[in-house]
Amino acid sequence: MKSNKKPVVIKSDNPSIARVESRCIKCGRCSYICSEVVGVPKDKHVCLNCGQCIINCPTGALVTKYNYKKVLDYINDTEKCVVCHIAPSVRVSLGEAFGMDFGENVEGKIVTALKKVGFDYVFDTTFGADLTVVEEASEFVLRYKNKKRLPQFTSCCPAWVKYIETFHPSLIDNLSTCKSPIGMQNSCIKTYFSEMEEIDPENIITVSIAPCTAKKAECMQKDFKDGDFSLTTVEAALMIKECGIDFENLKDSEADSLMGRGSSGGVIFGTSGGVCESVFRNCYYVLTGRRPTKQFLDFKKVRGYDNLKEATVKIKDDEFRILVCHGLKHIEDILQDIENGRINYDFIEVMNCPGGCIGGGGQPLGVIAKVDDINKRRSDALYKENDEVDVKFSYANKNISELYRSYMGDVLGEKAEKILHRSFKKKRVLKEDNSFDIDKNKRSRKKEKLWN
Ligand code: SF4
Repeated sequence: MKSNKKPVVIKSDNPSIARVESRCIKCGRCSYICSEVVGVPKDKHVCLNCGQCIINCPTGALVTKYNYKKVLDYINDTEKCVVCHIAPSVRVSLGEAFGMDFGENVEGKIVTALKKVGFDYVFDTTFGADLTVVEEASEFVLRYKNKKRLPQFTSCCPAWVKYIETFHPSLIDNLSTCKSPIGMQNSCIKTYFSEMEEIDPENIITVSIAPCTAKKAECMQKDFKDGDFSLTTVEAALMIKECGIDFENLKDSEADSLMGRGSSGGVIFGTSGGVCESVFRNCYYVLTGRRPTKQFLDFKKVRGYDNLKEATVKIKDDEFRILVCHGLKHIEDILQDIENGRINYDFIEVMNCPGGCIGGGGQPLGVIAKVDDINKRRSDALYKENDEVDVKFSYANKNISELYRSYMGDVLGEKAEKILHRSFKKKRVLKEDNSFDIDKNKRSRKKEKLWN
């Protein structure tokens, strides 16, 4: 039976989400999730593209906008070299679409399947995550030393970045200027990989496979033009099914070399607290020149499912105040306190989705009431891989050192800044009457060098 509650506003040009009107029973669950779980103010019709409404719609009226057919067309075009890479949380969820256990790590099968689909190269986005960490940890140390633009906010979640650009533009400068791991990996494929393999970048098509519907919107931004397509975990599963591949019985394969592997610090990016833990493993290395101690390899205070996690860590004589948040609703009061100078942190990690990317809007649907349990199993699987992998922090990843040595130059250097960093801009907010709040101070903001 239809009730008469207002569903969320999804415009026709939304790059991530569509609504199937005929399925909508006007139950209002999507509006509730958007305002009460995600944290978008009720009177502001702003879509953060996160897809939490898709995961929570009881009738399937909200759906991801699919691009995988276009990707298959490029795979069939012999002129094109189609390169994909797989985000960390996809390995612990894609198997669910084939009836496998929640949280089962199927990384090796995904690589085999994507090769069978026809991708020319299959990489692991944990490489891009390591690269993000190397740049972001050094960026943080510089900010901290200069006491400039603190706290530093993580910027790998496009929904969180859009939230700041839209609702707290005064804090834009607090966002790390690092591109997301997917953004960095796409840019490295179109530059470093293209040069090493002598392939014209015009003929390379980059495809990220992510738990995230918001990555589709990220790809459309100027600074992310190296990303041609982003497919969700569900889309990747559909593509594999449509190609008639017997996923469950596939043998494991390794991702291609050059950008095929990350450290375990890159793997835990997929779960809330993982970015922070990984950044501080590398801050320890930057500040002391030594391998991180056990405290940083098993950073319990930032792990787990609490929406807000606080920690203080000491490295040499410095004490860093850290906050980790998932669910934007929980960070709003803190942002207001920061704006009013009432609260101080040095580093804040924020992810939009429940539990971080493992709970992304592009993940396979589970029973709505069991979502927290499913996300916990996915998160446990990532920490299990963290324990098993020998290389535990990004600076120790030999593929990363080789990239800097042979191509990128210095961390935060001129080339790295051009290829791996980004800018931000204040966004317009759509009001109840469908008009826009005019941003009188609108300006295109050039990234300033932090280290000057
Ligand atoms: Fe995407 Fe992860 Fe952010 Fe969710 S938390 S919107 S999956 S980047």
